[in-house]
Amino acid sequence: MNLLDETKMLMRKYNIKANKNLGQNFLIDKQVIIDIVDSAEISKNDVVIEIGPGLGSMTQVLLERAKKVICIELDKKMIKVLSERFIAYNNFELIYGDVLKIDLRSIIEEEKNKEQNVINIKIVANLPYYITTPIIMKLLESKLNIQSITVMIQKEVAERLIEVPGGKNTGAITYTVYYYCEGRKVREVDSSSFIPAPDVTSEVINLYIRNMPPVDVKDEKIFFRIIKCAYMQRRKTLLNALVNTKVFNSKEEGIHILKQMNLPENVRAEELRIQDFADLSNYFIKTI
Ligand code: SAM
Repeated sequence: MNLLDETKMLMRKYNIKANKNLGQNFLIDKQVIIDIVDSAEISKNDVVIEIGPGLGSMTQVLLERAKKVICIELDKKMIKVLSERFIAYNNFELIYGDVLKIDLRSIIEEEKNKEQNVINIKIVANLPYYITTPIIMKLLESKLNIQSITVMIQKEVAERLIEVPGGKNTGAITYTVYYYCEGRKVREVDSSSFIPAPDVTSEVINLYIRNMPPVDVKDEKIFFRIIKCAYMQRRKTLLNALVNTKVFNSKEEGIHILKQMNLPENVRAEELRIQDFADLSNYFIKTI
């Protein structure tokens, strides 16, 4: 049976209608699933955490390849499908809950401690698009002991995440992702690969967690706050944006600091490299 027929059959059997509020767009293209799993380089040394497994189309492939698959799903209807569908697999674990609220650190530490051999933890997901950014931010900011994140998300968001800071798709999140990861595009996915078809084109990306950040930052809180404030008013000059958000106490102070950084007074946030933001935030530490 092809994946479209299988998906329709499961939806009929369990009386399921895709829930828009939960971002449910089910993958019906087997090749896309293979490409996602191949790009994540899943092997028997890997424990995969799949966020939002839905009806389990990708889970099925992950279970064959990985040492273990831990699925986190918020929809009770899906929980029923998944628990019945994969009952025969002893490498399958299912967690009912909201990925934004679950204690991922404990789950990961437990897996690491259980194993005598070295295992890698990899996140793989066709993410619910309504919460893509909060999920990615949670995965990165919690500094989880994971090796990589492979996700399918909306194309525009994907391009912002894997952009090198300073490139045309740069946003505040670009710096965060670049600070923690090396990103790579895997492929685009047309909306006809899902039911129901989303209104947007999708893209699969790999994010490999770096061992060391690419710049030396003394205080990450200050570093990320400055970036956030700079991008909150990105049409304004950096000087005005940072005065308005009280990063600089006054225009005079801002002009003085930018001069110390060898940055022109009228520079805009998107002209700054990640090193410039690192220097700027480290300057505050020096002067505290
Ligand atoms: N992986 C399936 C596929 O590719 O066909 C389904 C992907 S669908 C885009 C997103 C899935 O995430 C849905 O199954 C939805 O119920 C689930 N989901 C939505 N919000 C969630 C949350 N906060 N925590 C965990 N799962 C969530």
